[in-house]
Amino acid sequence: MNEETKHWADVIAENVLARGKKHTVASGITPSGAIHIGNMREVVTADAVYRALRDKGADVRLIYIADTFDPLRKVYPFLPKVYENHVGKPLSEIPCPCGSHKSYAEHFLVPFIEALHSLGIKPDVYRADELYRQGRYVEAIKIALIKRDAIARIISEVAGRELEPDWNPFNPICNECGRLSTTKVTGFDIEKETIDYACACGSQGTVSMRGGGKLTWRVDWPARWPIFGTTVEPFGKDHATAGGSYDTGKRISKEIYDYDPPYPIVYEWIMLKGRGAMHSSTGLAISISEMLEIVPPEVLRYLIIRQKPEKHIEFDPGLALLNLVDEYDRVEGDRRAYQLSQTEASRPTDIPFRHMVTTVQIADEKGFDYLLTVLRRSGYEISDIEAIRQRADNARNWLLRYAPPSVKFRVQETLPPQVKSLTKEQKHALAIIADELEQGMTGQEIHENIYKVAQEAGLDGKKVFEAVYLALLGLKSGPRAGHFLASLDRDFVVRRFKEASE
Ligand SMILES: [Zn+2]
Ligand SMILES: [Zn+2]
Repeated sequence: MNEETKHWADVIAENVLARGKKHTVASGITPSGAIHIGNMREVVTADAVYRALRDKGADVRLIYIADTFDPLRKVYPFLPKVYENHVGKPLSEIPCPCGSHKSYAEHFLVPFIEALHSLGIKPDVYRADELYRQGRYVEAIKIALIKRDAIARIISEVAGRELEPDWNPFNPICNECGRLSTTKVTGFDIEKETIDYACACGSQGTVSMRGGGKLTWRVDWPARWPIFGTTVEPFGKDHATAGGSYDTGKRISKEIYDYDPPYPIVYEWIMLKGRGAMHSSTGLAISISEMLEIVPPEVLRYLIIRQKPEKHIEFDPGLALLNLVDEYDRVEGDRRAYQLSQTEASRPTDIPFRHMVTTVQIADEKGFDYLLTVLRRSGYEISDIEAIRQRADNARNWLLRYAPPSVKFRVQETLPPQVKSLTKEQKHALAIIADELEQGMTGQEIHENIYKVAQEAGLDGKKVFEAVYLALLGLKSGPRAGHFLASLDRDFVVRRFKEASE
């Protein structure tokens, strides 16, 4: 295989393997809001490279660092007004919005980790507040305090902006008001491992280097690379801009912490079709759990893994989703992406999602056993009931939330009044089809013969299909006729067509 056809995760794995055999693939998200499928790209990208490295025999570990010690930046639209009091405090120290989690950070982190597991991603999870309290950052904090001037120079050179004379890489948490966005470092003691501060709230005090505050993001990020031995890390393009946090991080890593920065994987955003990039702060996002109600986890992985990280993904939960699921099922896109998308719970099925969408609409009112009957009628073998149940649930949820009206229908219990518009020729066509069905023709055979029927009845083929849908659904169009007719009870169809042709 050449570079062109090789999967991007394998290309990256080979590049980093040239640097050594032991690897840590890191990812991290700030749990400040509902974690949506836009954020998902980071972790799925990390997992794909982790798996590619593992497949090539690397000694590799996947980690996820939750930035639980970051401050709440503002009162997001989804928060009640009382959160004004918490702006500037670390997410791990703010009460949870629903009341049943340990903190604000956990409120968003817990469902996210559950979603990761259903996607077959099992990183070692670290929480920044715990890492700081455990003292994992102490050495990095000491170095940053001592080399404050050198760090400030790197940031102003790379980012092209002068820092305030009292700028400091460490943000103490005020003992009085609990904020870390309003404090300034006034001194420190390397021996005692303490830092003195003054806060905008008027108080002054001393905090420990073990949990009394955190390094500012531009320093925190490179500081954690040697702590975890990170060698590969995906990050969003906002960190990758010229003079951005990866550029400063690279130099801080080498010059301050004497560590080779990780291999960068810059990824583009996931856009919601016609609406723009997904952001939890604006509410323009589909949550992962919502997504997993409409597609199996392996298809969600496939959506991300089949595309190179540097290309944006336009996600369309409408009709295009049917094509995505079907492309995945047919393994006809990228075989390696398909392989990297598998989860332990993946259940392959030969029933196209499009067909399941039709079947659910025919069968749902009569229960799951009837759904199996309908699938058998249309020629599918029932081998994995659980896989069918999962896909049927997905199809049902998709119909409820995202399906365009053009794919929705309902088989009418009684003759639809719309049959009044049938012409004499259309009625004749229905009578012919009823006869053929009675003589044992299958739905598929009828479909293939429809132009013969049309000729016999002196009609255009399209008009015959129209008559079929009008008689059964009261609509001028519907699902592919062959499968559709095969899915229905034959006696019912014969009766209905005879009735409609009178
Ligand atoms: Zn909660
Ligand atoms: Zn304060």
